[in-house]
Amino acid sequence: MIRGSKHADEVVVYTAHWDHLGIGTKVNGDSIYNGATDNASAVAWMLEMARAFKTSKPVDRSILFLSVTCEESGLLGSGYYTEHPFFPMNKTVAVINTDVLLFLGKFKDVMLTGSGQSELDGWVEKEAVKQGRYLAPDPNPENGMFFRSDQFPFVKLGVPAIYAKGYVDAEKYGKVETMKLVDRYWKETYHTPSDEYHPDKADLSGVVEDAKLLYHVGTNLANSNAWPVWNKDSEFRAIREESRK
Ligand SMILES: [Zn+2]
Repeated sequence: MIRGSKHADEVVVYTAHWDHLGIGTKVNGDSIYNGATDNASAVAWMLEMARAFKTSKPVDRSILFLSVTCEESGLLGSGYYTEHPFFPMNKTVAVINTDVLLFLGKFKDVMLTGSGQSELDGWVEKEAVKQGRYLAPDPNPENGMFFRSDQFPFVKLGVPAIYAKGYVDAEKYGKVETMKLVDRYWKETYHTPSDEYHPDKADLSGVVEDAKLLYHVGTNLANSNAWPVWNKDSEFRAIREESRK
């Protein structure tokens, strides 16, 4: 945690689950489920942002970097945190989560899981535009990732959250080829021992861009007095209004 210099009791939270599936069924002679993409990628994203916050000008609000466990078992770590938080939910300004950052280089898009839910979309867009990127909706909302990743225990208690990353339009590949590579990841690599890091093939420049992007979004939130709200038609709006009273 980095304590805020003016409003230390208010917090912006970053989340990335650090564990994966451990040792499991052998596939092609390999039983180690490394989880390089899911979710070492986002842990690296978060650690580098933490380093940046530590070495730059202090921000007004506190920043919490939360590396939770047991996401794969049903959000147990993030659920535990929200039941035993360091800051009450009504003092938690926003949650910035991510998972599965692909090693495909820089992306033209910033895909928002759960887009249209809250004002946080606008906070991301402001910084995305500065990187020459555009916001894209989730190409597979039927997977329900907004309701299945570590932001959700916060969301259920009314805290606005974003889960953002480059995803649908890698610079090197274009949209069509990118979506083929994304599909291949989910079909062949996701939750298998082949989710490994290959330094010769991995291009981390997109992960770096995403870290810079969400670092700026978090900095802006931490240096403002704003309390981003849920959109009018969001099912989470009422609980936030109640807790913020
Ligand atoms: Zn994951």
